[in-house]
Amino acid sequence: MKDIQTRLVGRASRPEDAAFALGVPIYQAVTFRQADPDRPGEYDYSRSGNPTRRALEELMAELEGATAAFAFASGMAAISTCLLLFSAGDHLLVTRDCNGGTQRVLEHVFAQLGIRADYVDTHDAAALEEARRPQTRGVLIENFSNPHLFVTDVAAVSEWAHRHGLLVLVDNTILSPVLSRPLEQGADVVLHSATKLLAGHNDVTAGVAAVGQGELASRLGFLQNAVGAVAAPHDSWLVLRGLKTLGVRLERAQTTAANLAAWLAGQDGVERVFYPGLPGHPGHERLSRVAAGAGQILSLELAPGLVRPFLASLRLFALGAGFGGVESIVSRPALSCHACLTAAQRSERSIGPGLIRVSVGLEGEADLRDDLERALTLARRENSAEAANQEVG
Ligand code: PLP
Repeated sequence: MKDIQTRLVGRASRPEDAAFALGVPIYQAVTFRQADPDRPGEYDYSRSGNPTRRALEELMAELEGATAAFAFASGMAAISTCLLLFSAGDHLLVTRDCNGGTQRVLEHVFAQLGIRADYVDTHDAAALEEARRPQTRGVLIENFSNPHLFVTDVAAVSEWAHRHGLLVLVDNTILSPVLSRPLEQGADVVLHSATKLLAGHNDVTAGVAAVGQGELASRLGFLQNAVGAVAAPHDSWLVLRGLKTLGVRLERAQTTAANLAAWLAGQDGVERVFYPGLPGHPGHERLSRVAAGAGQILSLELAPGLVRPFLASLRLFALGAGFGGVESIVSRPALSCHACLTAAQRSERSIGPGLIRVSVGLEGEADLRDDLERALTLARRENSAEAANQEVG
């Protein structure tokens, strides 16, 4: 099957389901009856295994080309459980422009356990080599970083990392397996905030980790059960349902995002647009080696006086946290996903008050553009009126 959308839709009924439902039923159960007094069955207790969660894990393994996948209660639960593959004394190299929550858990939880991290531009081979220490054991990459969408060539970094015996973990949240399959590019572990594109409807928090080789699969399977931050049956079902339309959602949102990015780049007051599909983006050259498309997120830097009135004037785009869903959302990383960093860390990463991340959803492109245009016009007007008032004052 060549078309990934066929695989996304075409799940057979679960063998456990006597009614042969077309979709996967929600097994809202903790305990499974044991038929043989001497041997537990395939399922015994939901933390260890649940048929609905298993269906999601099997589909994610298939989509990512993995030996096994594991579903968690959130993206952070997936990342944190995978970080437990490391031990006290280990050192990690992490994409500098990473999700704020990833940096927070590393700095405030894992550092206390003796697992240290340095933040590096993982798209820069020389910077990686310079940051490597004798204790370095792993590289945690965002192949498309959050929020500037810098692009890391997973194949090149994996080749370098494996030469030095490092484990390669790739957060594939912004691309999804429709646009990129990091295990095929040499990574060892793929991570997802399934809250975003995979579920796709801004209505469930979940995470996934998928691994290529068997030994890693048993270690992670052990950790998933031992730590217990598993995806609930109903949440697993919501992700499964969202996955059925992932291909078509992403295709449509990506087209809109590409057109809006090009349009925004020519607007007064928009100082910079970050979208890897645009030739001026620093990751544009690497894009075709990493992904089959540039995705549905873009970030923009607005002139300082425009930010507040622009955000306050938007009607169709919701101001909030999150991305990858059917509803278009604008976020201010400095106040949302990266608010947990210190002001100095944000400034070092160029996450200023004027940076706005735009997650393009499924509304009509013309309606979204009209909303942006109206808000920009109002913001420019308000800003000039304020400047004139200040002159008079
Ligand atoms: N990875 C990336 C790239 C993210 O953007 C996020 C959240 O925004 C996470 C992981 C964490 O996911 P969750 O919010 O599902 O815990």
